[in-house]
Amino acid sequence: MQNESLNPESTPAGLTGFAPHVDTAALNHAPGTLVDKYGRHINYVRLSITDRCDFRCTYCMAEEMTFLPRHEVLSLEECLTVASTFVGLGVSKLRITGGEPLVRKNAMWLIERLGALPGLDNLVLTTNGSQLERYAGALRAAGVRRLNVSLDTLRPDRFKAITRIGELDKVLHGVAAAQAAGFTRTKLNTVMMRGINDDEFVDLVRYVLDHGLDLSFIEEMPLGEIHGRSNTYISSEEVRERLTEHFELLPSTENSGGPARYWRIPGSESRIGFISPHSHNFCDSCNRVRITAKGELYPCLGQNDAMYLLPILRQYPGDSDRLRQAIIDSMGIKPFGHDFTQQMDAPQVVRFMSMTGG
Ligand code: SAM
Ligand code: SF4
Repeated sequence: MQNESLNPESTPAGLTGFAPHVDTAALNHAPGTLVDKYGRHINYVRLSITDRCDFRCTYCMAEEMTFLPRHEVLSLEECLTVASTFVGLGVSKLRITGGEPLVRKNAMWLIERLGALPGLDNLVLTTNGSQLERYAGALRAAGVRRLNVSLDTLRPDRFKAITRIGELDKVLHGVAAAQAAGFTRTKLNTVMMRGINDDEFVDLVRYVLDHGLDLSFIEEMPLGEIHGRSNTYISSEEVRERLTEHFELLPSTENSGGPARYWRIPGSESRIGFISPHSHNFCDSCNRVRITAKGELYPCLGQNDAMYLLPILRQYPGDSDRLRQAIIDSMGIKPFGHDFTQQMDAPQVVRFMSMTGG
């Protein structure tokens, strides 16, 4: 890609060059590792490989979305360059996400190469499951270790209402295909919404117990301009209390390397997790950064500071030192934490989750 494809406007005002000025001497990291100024080791990257999706989930996207033009999206080669640079800096876990990663053309080209990267021990993928029946075998063969599949309801009509487009059967067949392909401990992700799916949480837990799956309930986050969230917000605490009327939940110290806190139900292998950005801030132990489909490196899901990798990749192709330094510098803009309040109607972050990658 040539320099003229760069859009200098895409680097926001206030940034010098591609990055905020950072005093890297203040970052106390050993060479070859990523440590932020609060001493947190960053070993986990979530890479969004597209902003597009074949669903329009009400909590994630507007009904009418304008997606990015192709030249503003990282090419698959650029995604690979970014991922391998992070791995060279000690990152051992990478989650491929989106948008819907499996609608990206030739996504498997990238996934196969990521699966073969020495040092990347844990390649995982988050998907809406719509394409899983087709790709489960190839994902497994490529070395993807584990899948997260988003599923907020087990009722076809409700599924259609929440996703605006999707078909529940396709997703359930996709989950079955993943199990047939040899994936174990596949995890369902359920966004908790009062008055929308909160009458199904017990059924969802029964479903995962019956099918040998895990489940994480997620508190809805105020990302993107969507109104009415405060009516639907429901805390992990409340849901957990409701579940204890039906199941014995034993707290577990297990950690999947993510923000979920887990509970076990005696006699079952399934883990029931809660991701609680509102009610239980998990920033202390944050070990991750996110890369958007545009190549923006967001050190925090809930803040707007970013490092812009795409201009570096395009103006200095092959300059691995420059890219590596920008990534190291991004540690200096990683904030201590996000600041989601219970004021859900006003988005604290203007990006949709489909931009940042969930
Ligand atoms: N399309 C894929 C999927 O749905 O799994 C991957 C991308 S999606 C943005 C990743 C996760 O973010 C999904 O589990 C989705 O439910 C979650 N998500 C999206 N918007 C959210 C919001 N506002 N609050 C909480 N979770 C959200
Ligand atoms: Fe698409 Fe996933 Fe967002 Fe739903 S949550 S619209 S499936 S990116």
